[in-house]
Amino acid sequence: MKSYDAIVIGGGPAGMAAALYLVRAGVKILVVEKLAPGGQMLLTEELENYPGFPGGIKGYELADYMAEHVQQYPFDKIYDEVREIIPGKDSHEIVVDGVHFKARAIIIATGVVFRKLKVPNEEKLLGRGVSYCALCDGNFYKNKVVAVVGGGNSALEESLYLARLVKKLYLIHRRDEFRGLKCYQDKCNADPTIVPVLNSVVSRIVGDNEVVGIEVKDAVTNEYSVLDVDGVFIFVGFNPLSTFFPVELQLDHSGFIKTTCEMETNIPGIYAAGDIRSKNCRQVVTAVGDGATAATAAFAYLEHNDA
Ligand SMILES: Cc1cc2nc3c(=O)[nH]c(=O)nc-3n(C[C@H](O)[C@H](O)[C@H](O)COP(=O)(O)OP(=O)(O)OC[C@H]3O[C@@H](n4cnc5c(N)ncnc54)[C@H](O)[C@@H]3O)c2cc1C
Repeated sequence: MKSYDAIVIGGGPAGMAAALYLVRAGVKILVVEKLAPGGQMLLTEELENYPGFPGGIKGYELADYMAEHVQQYPFDKIYDEVREIIPGKDSHEIVVDGVHFKARAIIIATGVVFRKLKVPNEEKLLGRGVSYCALCDGNFYKNKVVAVVGGGNSALEESLYLARLVKKLYLIHRRDEFRGLKCYQDKCNADPTIVPVLNSVVSRIVGDNEVVGIEVKDAVTNEYSVLDVDGVFIFVGFNPLSTFFPVELQLDHSGFIKTTCEMETNIPGIYAAGDIRSKNCRQVVTAVGDGATAATAAFAYLEHNDA
């Protein structure tokens, strides 16, 4: 079985920062990423709040910079999914495509998955009008009518991006006001393409082979109506990616990993960083900070438990 000092699971900003700090400290590492380096940054049109970029930076650009930076140093990487973590006493194992790898320290930085609305036709029309990524699919809706569902930062941010492309955008939220930052709310309110539809819940996506509308229930009057749309973009929160966690790992009530401020989990030698851990602020800047903290703690752990 191939053996490393540390394994980093996930190549988003948390994983890349952790990897950078570990390789620069001379630690022999393996990074496993199931898709491509960048994580959710690849879904983000513009980051306006990452320090050092006063004019903002495209998500994919920041992802490229981070990947280029860490790849200046030698380390092993695998593009595949970690299916299992098997904790041990002096070292831990991960399983990738049936193959086991061993390390004394593991950093879990696997981020989140988007929540579904769980309404009729959502699954069936995925990719045929239903999307969870404005940046990936927005171009298909040039001069068309779309709905965005959600009221948090992601929904507002993505609405502002889509509003530059589409003819009309219904921004549907179940409460009487949006939850996202005031600066995003102000921009949405000032955009004539965006039509807020508040106190409203999507009850069904309408269409046989492609989306032609959404059925919306007014939460105040309980009346149903159908809005004619060509596409629906869903941003209603996220869940932790936790299917491969060991049962011993302590999670909070929502399934996110509990850590100390040094990113230690309850299992010695296993750390968590970024959106996957229990915390309030899920952003690139905090993911990067978590990654660096986890790597530093893992390095100290390796030094104290020298094999
Ligand atoms: C639409 C949108 C807009 C956003 N806008 C902003 C913004 O303006 N500013 C900001 O700071 N933040 C923004 N964010 C949030 C920010 O992108 C996240 O907080 C940040 O990317 C979290 O980093 P992470 O490394 O913890 O997780 P992620 O970025 O989610 O990366 C996790 C990585 O782990 C990989 N992975 C998952 N499971 C496995 C597995 N089992 N095996 C191997 N690999 C695995 C995934 O493929 C992914 O690449 C936005 C997010 C979205 C979706």
